[in-house]
Amino acid sequence: MYFNSNTLAFSDGAFIKAQDAGCNLHSQSLHYGFSVFEGIRAYKTPAGTQVFKAKEHYERLHYSAKAIGLPLQYSVEELTAITYQLLELNGLQDAYIRPLVYAADAHMSLTAPAASNVFMAAWDWPKLLGNKMLRLMVSPYQRPNPKAVPLEAKVSGHYVNSIMASSHAKAQGYDEALLLDMNGYVAEGPGANFFYEKRGELFTAPCGSILRGITRNTIIELAQEAGITVHEQYFTPDALKDAEGAFMTGTAAEVAGVASVNSYSFNRPFAETLGGMLAARYQALVTACVAGATNEVVA
Ligand code: PMP
Repeated sequence: MYFNSNTLAFSDGAFIKAQDAGCNLHSQSLHYGFSVFEGIRAYKTPAGTQVFKAKEHYERLHYSAKAIGLPLQYSVEELTAITYQLLELNGLQDAYIRPLVYAADAHMSLTAPAASNVFMAAWDWPKLLGNKMLRLMVSPYQRPNPKAVPLEAKVSGHYVNSIMASSHAKAQGYDEALLLDMNGYVAEGPGANFFYEKRGELFTAPCGSILRGITRNTIIELAQEAGITVHEQYFTPDALKDAEGAFMTGTAAEVAGVASVNSYSFNRPFAETLGGMLAARYQALVTACVAGATNEVVA
């Protein structure tokens, strides 16, 4: 699914066959999860393929690298140019893009490495959580203490927590997990932010124990443009008891409707909820031709 024998990936400063890309097995990143990454999407638009919010994603990659002290030698502009080249070389129009910054050399001590390497792959990836309404369960796995690790950075090691929560929820017959923070407030999903709707307003967890999602920010902006009030505030799962709708947001998942959280179900048809309306606006935005976008690969 991710690559075939013709696929090219960016690794160690060059475009090489994805099947030949590898890393040093003595890299600290593999042993300790000391690496940072991004998840980005490109969409086919009337002006050719455009990477949605490339600047925001690569600024977050820089923020993440800095937060853990991992060097990153490519600028936002260079990373954006590499992304467009990668898409063009692979003939991709709608694609998911995965940059990874990892410790370059054999380096096993518990200090940040002096040098990093950038790997970037792209592939065609349908909406990560599918199109069905999701049944979520509140996970027994909480988000880590934000004083232990920089939770707003997209660090590979944080995803042990995500994999534990998601695998557990699926093993219990649910579609996905919903994680609480260390104080028992709803935080987010394993790879997506969470919103709920009540009396025509939206609610989502504040920053602190969540990844500040770029889709989350986009949805907040779209909601505000539509005159909808968005509250970024702490809430417990009980707040969902009389909610009218809920949804998750993320680059890979886009905007995914939520049918229920544990025994609380949201019966309004998704298309009639704020989430349904914003999902449509999000699709229109990502496939629109963004004025002033540069480097687009003209199809
Ligand atoms: N939370 C987590 C833990 C994630 O992994 C993601 C996916 N990057 C998100 C939220 C959503 O972030 P974004 O909208 O920037 O993709």
